[in-house]
Amino acid sequence: MSSDLVIVYHRQPYEEVEENGKIVFKENKSPNGIVPTLKSFFGKVDKGAWVAWKEAEDTSNPGFERIIQIEDSFGQYTVSRLPLTKEQVSSFYHVTSKEAFWPILHGFKEKYNYDPVDWPTFKEVNWAFAEAAAAEAAKGASVWVHDYNLWLVPGYLRQMRSDVRISFFHHTPFPAADMFNVLPWRGEIVDSLLACDVVGFHIPRYAANFVSVVRSLRDVGQVPREKVDPDFISEGSALSDRTVPVEIHTEDRVVKLGTTPVGVDTDYIAQVAEREETAKRAAEIKEELDGDRLVLSVGRTDYTKGGADQLLAFERLLERRPDLRGTVRLLHVSVSANRNMTVYAEIQSEIEQIAGRINGRFGTFSKTPVVLISRAIPFEHLVGYYRAADVAWITPLADGMNLVCKEFAAARADGDGALILSEFAGAAMEMSSAVLTNPYSNKSMDHAIEMALEMPEDERRSRMAELRRVVEKYNTEAWARDQLALLSPEDFGTEAA
Ligand code: UDP
Repeated sequence: MSSDLVIVYHRQPYEEVEENGKIVFKENKSPNGIVPTLKSFFGKVDKGAWVAWKEAEDTSNPGFERIIQIEDSFGQYTVSRLPLTKEQVSSFYHVTSKEAFWPILHGFKEKYNYDPVDWPTFKEVNWAFAEAAAAEAAKGASVWVHDYNLWLVPGYLRQMRSDVRISFFHHTPFPAADMFNVLPWRGEIVDSLLACDVVGFHIPRYAANFVSVVRSLRDVGQVPREKVDPDFISEGSALSDRTVPVEIHTEDRVVKLGTTPVGVDTDYIAQVAEREETAKRAAEIKEELDGDRLVLSVGRTDYTKGGADQLLAFERLLERRPDLRGTVRLLHVSVSANRNMTVYAEIQSEIEQIAGRINGRFGTFSKTPVVLISRAIPFEHLVGYYRAADVAWITPLADGMNLVCKEFAAARADGDGALILSEFAGAAMEMSSAVLTNPYSNKSMDHAIEMALEMPEDERRSRMAELRRVVEKYNTEAWARDQLALLSPEDFGTEAA
């Protein structure tokens, strides 16, 4: 019980690999992704801890060191490894989080699967995370919990430790009441979130949705009327202004709703983009294109990412515009993260089927209009594609933020390149200089791809200059600064309990 800052995130903050029969903890040197940003907070406190799960056959005797000390480029910190069985991981993560919560968070009621959810297991795992965090936190420490799979941790932790400051960040969208309230456990989830000092979202619309949920549950008595002040929103107008936190007044505390869009490490991306090997890679891609234009799409294989809709839009483009056949190529990177889940396997095969059809209809011996990559491309290589692309085509049906579009802009030091971005990516709020499109409308998608391909160079450059300005302004450093302001850094460094 001695850490000033405890980060609770389901994944471990390093890669665990076997070398010469020994397990070693390897720091992932690539600073993209959220883990390095979170670890950077350890540099701002005397002592930090990270809580994550690790699979064990027997949780009472897990066969590995439960608490370890790590020293990497972010300094020294403790990692508390919570032993969970394969069945617990599958139930709490793959079933409850991915089959029930994920579709609702992204507005896909039809994909929501209630039947296999084992709620007692979800509660038991969240309780164990809360216990592990409570064991690490010093008196008055800040505990920062991440994402929906740990929704119940704040409420449990509050029961164990009334002294700690609790902050929760949503990395996904947060839906409005009519969608969220489909979850039968809505009352318990909201009750837990109202035990926080800070509840964080990417953009004001998600915070506004959370307020709509609290109001609706209060109306039906799922959140006790006496618990939330009837005039509970202190700053109504703040819901459209991300710099002013909204406050919900409960009988126990004031809960701040922060809206801080996650950014990318613009300095690092610029540095990779300028490397000689990246320039060489981009030149090789251009050479292979042999004068054709490159449209680049990058995302995970997930129904929320709209991969199939995008391929259908590309097929319509080639149908409509014979002049573009043989002159525009689409590189569709769709990384399969959860190959063993049926829903993702189905999307993968749908994508492969449409891409195959397009290539069959419009391909020639020397040219295939669609190149499909379903394995992850190392980030440093991806930057080569960002540099070589004429158009980045990022059209998720729903996405909490979307970092690929920000990385694309950060990589384009040459000031060129067009970005098509879905209105339903959180990033659209900041990146209004992109060609914004509604992926639920064929007309809008058709218009956007033609507009991007035909955009005059001066317009492309002025839009890109604005996109780069925004991405640089709200980079990872700005996000860390805003988070620290919300977490009240003056509370760090309190006495050990
Ligand atoms: N990414 C990568 N290689 C790939 C595809 C994606 O390194 O082949 C990275 C990409 O650079 C980005 C992240 O994966 O940093 C995807 O983040 P995003 O927020 O766009 O989507 P998410 O998968 O988190 O929903």
